[in-house]
Amino acid sequence: MNMSTFDEIYKKIEEYPTIILHRHTNPDPDAIGSQAGLARALKAKFPNKKILCAGENDEGDLAWINTMDDVKESDYQGALVITTDTANTPRISNKNYDKGDLLIKIDHHPNVDDYADMSYVDPDAPAASQIVVDFLNAEGFEITKEVAYPLYAGIVGDTGRFMYPETSAHTFEVAKQLAETGIDLTEIARNISDVTFAQAKLQALVLDYMKIDPSGAAYAILTQKDMKDLGISQDQADVTVSTPGRIKDIKAWNVFVEKPDGTFRVHYRSKAPVINQLAAKHNGGGHALASGANAADMDEVKQIFDEVVEVTKKYYENHEK
Ligand code: AMP
Repeated sequence: MNMSTFDEIYKKIEEYPTIILHRHTNPDPDAIGSQAGLARALKAKFPNKKILCAGENDEGDLAWINTMDDVKESDYQGALVITTDTANTPRISNKNYDKGDLLIKIDHHPNVDDYADMSYVDPDAPAASQIVVDFLNAEGFEITKEVAYPLYAGIVGDTGRFMYPETSAHTFEVAKQLAETGIDLTEIARNISDVTFAQAKLQALVLDYMKIDPSGAAYAILTQKDMKDLGISQDQADVTVSTPGRIKDIKAWNVFVEKPDGTFRVHYRSKAPVINQLAAKHNGGGHALASGANAADMDEVKQIFDEVVEVTKKYYENHEK
């Protein structure tokens, strides 16, 4: 494993005239926020370097955090490439990431795919954006309001507004520092939590479809027809994934979202039983309590949910619900 220190990463940043930042596909606020926050801080400290944000222009509803630059293949010549919040190569948005001179990974997912030349990975951090703040502080960067805005968005997004278990006292220290720059906390929190009326209706459908097993495991399947009827894109359907977590009886759950080709994108979420090893069995992965995978057909959907039931049952044999 190529674990590097902040100082070692900073030295490389100093060295390269062009730095291109990548994040993961189907981005969330932490993907866009960690990328944008780092990019803005680098631009401010190194005005003569070319700093670019690369991605497939798939930021969609997250364009309020940041939009991508027009990055050409020729920009990668002799460039330093940094990925943030991206665990494995299939999930890196924009496949030119390997055309640079050196690749650095800054991430908070378990380090299952050690794809970079240098890495700083901390799976205990609730958000990649928190690691970026730690890096900027350690290396003497100024965190301005413009830098703080996307980073705070990333932290609010990936902690579920300071609810998920990796949220720590340090997360609040970082949030305090970002808040003190004068960013609009309400605007950011609202931008993250607001949904369209159609998305709210899809959330209602997920609850309507939810089947709860006595173990505390639960699932719902959203079809292409459900999304078409409401005029909702695949990415916009992601807002339904956290909804079941508000129900007391539900301890671990899957939301299966049918893709246009009839296969399923699988979302795993849990309040305590660890589910990422289950996702890994189905061409996926992620965090201990929040993972994603893919299912080829209804047989695999059933198999996936059976596995979640099994793990949930086992967990609550030894823990209080
Ligand atoms: P999602 O359910 O899409 O919000 O994903 C939850 C978490 O799992 C995110 O942190 C993703 O980075 C990770 N994840 C989702 N899909 C995959 C996949 N196919 N392979 C590896 N990690 C994934």
